[in-house]
Amino acid sequence: MHRTLLIATLAFLAIGAAPKPRVAICGLAIESSTFSPATTDEAAFHASAGQAILDTYPFFSGPHSLRDRAVWVGALQGHALPGGAVTRDAYESLMQKMLDGLRAALPLDGLFFDIHGAMSVVGMEDAEGDMISRVRAVVGPRTLISTSMDLHGNVSWRLAAESDLITCYRMAPHEDEIESKQRAVENLLTRLESGKGRPAYKAYIAVPVLLPGEQTSTRIEPARSIYAAIPAITKRPGIIDAAIWIGYAWADEPRNHAAVMVTGDDQAAVKAAAESLAASFWAARRQFDFVAPTLPWDQALERALTILRERRAASEVEPVTLALLARAHLAAGEIARAAAVAAEALTVARENGSHWSEVQALEARSYALLAGDVAEHAAGMGA
Ligand SMILES: [Zn+2]
Repeated sequence: MHRTLLIATLAFLAIGAAPKPRVAICGLAIESSTFSPATTDEAAFHASAGQAILDTYPFFSGPHSLRDRAVWVGALQGHALPGGAVTRDAYESLMQKMLDGLRAALPLDGLFFDIHGAMSVVGMEDAEGDMISRVRAVVGPRTLISTSMDLHGNVSWRLAAESDLITCYRMAPHEDEIESKQRAVENLLTRLESGKGRPAYKAYIAVPVLLPGEQTSTRIEPARSIYAAIPAITKRPGIIDAAIWIGYAWADEPRNHAAVMVTGDDQAAVKAAAESLAASFWAARRQFDFVAPTLPWDQALERALTILRERRAASEVEPVTLALLARAHLAAGEIARAAAVAAEALTVARENGSHWSEVQALEARSYALLAGDVAEHAAGMGA
């Protein structure tokens, strides 16, 4: 009888193996300051669609790839460098493409919602809340949404309500960026594969503290200990994930503050975990301090220039050192010197391309433009 049952079970597994879940990926990521007069356009997001999105995540390739665990559909994913608020036109255009991509992918079991959380859009106060609401309206109430964020993002009530699973980085600087995104995807897949689906409970606590990233590095106390408590909490029975957001200080919106969220199936455990994390943050609110030395403006510039000149003299010339030196000269109002050092940075960068990241190259190009402007300006003055 046991053998019959076993054979019947195996036959069921072979014939009736559950189909892979259908999971879409979408999101827009930018940290935009509402205090900057600059605006960010659509091109700045370098948005990709389709299977190309999967290639941007290392956990979708290699021996432990998550790629085989679902049928993946890339809707739209864009990432812009920090800047000013996103124009309404850019946001609406990107959203239309994202929502069209999602409509074409329906029906969906899950959605990996990959955002930063500190995007400001001209005329809006909760851009990510708006984004997830529109996404939810397309995918429907049954699709499990797993949100992944930067800890400098903001969690509005709307974002908290529409996310079924949610997590963020646990390190600043963000050495665990990929690990965090992978955790968001693994939590989503585990819930779909096990049939457990949406967590029974999620706790959201707004912590009425707003500090800049410069004062909340997890390399020093008190953030180090506050964040160090998270991994043990997530191993408690009935808990799926726990996350603490510092929030974003460089925008003036009601959602800009710290927050704690915990998801899981045990109501008491979820509540207790969220309360303990929020209480530890609140208790330490006056202990946060700058991770780097702080000095009055003139002294800080002098010190930066001294350090960079020493570094330049002591070691082989690195483009990044030169770019920082150019930036320091610029900040000191020494525009001609800044332009000269920037031009040198660009030359070294061209010679040493393999050690020059895209971001630094962009910076070098902007200094080169500045050098051109200075030359043009000087020529104009001479004329
Ligand atoms: Zn960040």
